[in-house]
Amino acid sequence: MAHPSISRLAAFARLATSAPLATSGLPATAALLTATALLVAAALLGLGSTPAPAEVFVWVDESGVTHITDDPSGVPAHARTAEQGFGELWSSSIGDKPVSGPTLDASEARTQRLIRGAIDDLRRGETARASVSLDAVLRESPGEPVAHWYLALLDRQRGRYESARVHLEAFLAAAGDDLEPWRQSASRRLSALDDEARLADPNGARATGPWQGLSNANFRVHYGPELEQASPNYAQTVLRYLEEARSTVSARLGAVPDESMGVVFYGKAAYLEAHRHRFSFQTVGFFDGRIHVVSAAHPAGELRALLFHEYSHAVYREQTGGDRPYWLNEGLAEISERESLRRKGLTRSERRTLRVAIDTGKWIPLRRLAPSFSGLDDEGARAAYLESAAAAQWIAEQTDTAQRAKLLGMLGTGVDADQAFLAILGVDTDAVDGAVREAILAEFPSEAAIEVPHRESAKLREATQ
Ligand SMILES: [Zn+2]
Repeated sequence: MAHPSISRLAAFARLATSAPLATSGLPATAALLTATALLVAAALLGLGSTPAPAEVFVWVDESGVTHITDDPSGVPAHARTAEQGFGELWSSSIGDKPVSGPTLDASEARTQRLIRGAIDDLRRGETARASVSLDAVLRESPGEPVAHWYLALLDRQRGRYESARVHLEAFLAAAGDDLEPWRQSASRRLSALDDEARLADPNGARATGPWQGLSNANFRVHYGPELEQASPNYAQTVLRYLEEARSTVSARLGAVPDESMGVVFYGKAAYLEAHRHRFSFQTVGFFDGRIHVVSAAHPAGELRALLFHEYSHAVYREQTGGDRPYWLNEGLAEISERESLRRKGLTRSERRTLRVAIDTGKWIPLRRLAPSFSGLDDEGARAAYLESAAAAQWIAEQTDTAQRAKLLGMLGTGVDADQAFLAILGVDTDAVDGAVREAILAEFPSEAAIEVPHRESAKLREATQ
């Protein structure tokens, strides 16, 4: 069941329920910010037809999930009041520049357009596209603090701690006193990155002492002393994530485990030291009756998303007695992960990727993906995850919780998958495959519709593959 690392992004790993995790190519998250619930950003760019700056609020909820909205009523009161004035900060740094005129040269106009596009992309969950735009900004204006700020958040979220550090330091070097609250936040983030680097360093001094544990009715959590040292509230945080995963997955699959589930959390270096010998490729976790995962020192939205994914696998295994059809198992885990980010199904870029796969003969029949994903190359594995998520989303839209529970229950009694699909959905695997493809083709009816509109599209492909 092991599948190889399939992504240079390496944002998340995938836990096959009986086997190691392989990293997946789905960035799958908008959790750009870490830890504290803050209103951290606002007001960007009143260019184009709008004379006044349009405010964009970025805030992080208690679960570490980032939200981006231009609707202030969607921002909780505590977040709105937490950092009053951020909108003005952005206005003064960017947004009050004239829409046109002598002080806004072509390069500045392009910079502002790219940043505005990046914010729009972040709002839609198109993080790869946002990165490309922000990188383009820095090629023209290497000191642009806004771009450094958002790239630092994106890199942190992807586990690229060193690059996040570079961007935060560049932000601090470029940001003036008018950005003082952001400067303070950047300094706090830099110090948190020190903790992440320490936990990842195989040769570094690590906290010693006993492993810690905390249990409630549903979970038995164990975690290394280094995690306790970095985050005093570590156990409460991850227990909350797990409870949220349990309630989301229970609503989707109509089932919860009979017994409490063990979950073991490691700092990165500690995990590698303990488990590297098990696998021939890079992993961030595995399942052996308990879930074992690598954790950041300061857990946030990315760990929460990973737990939503892995918990779905664990319940699927308990209900069906295995992990097949593999595409259904993986697809359900994918859409649970996306739900942890308040996202429903695939992003438009991902659906477009599937349209291209259909056009170029790279679509892999779901029937081929039923036994496992093994034997796929990087590109194939990426397509397999996207197809699985699209198919699981399609099934979720055709069924209610009770029907999905019944479907898993039938699989658990050894009923053939096609028979189970026919009984619940009225169609077999091939018909599900056809329906998903039809929906993609209907959304992108022509070649023109699948072209990536940004002129940085070539770069985008690099970033997403
Ligand atoms: Zn998975």
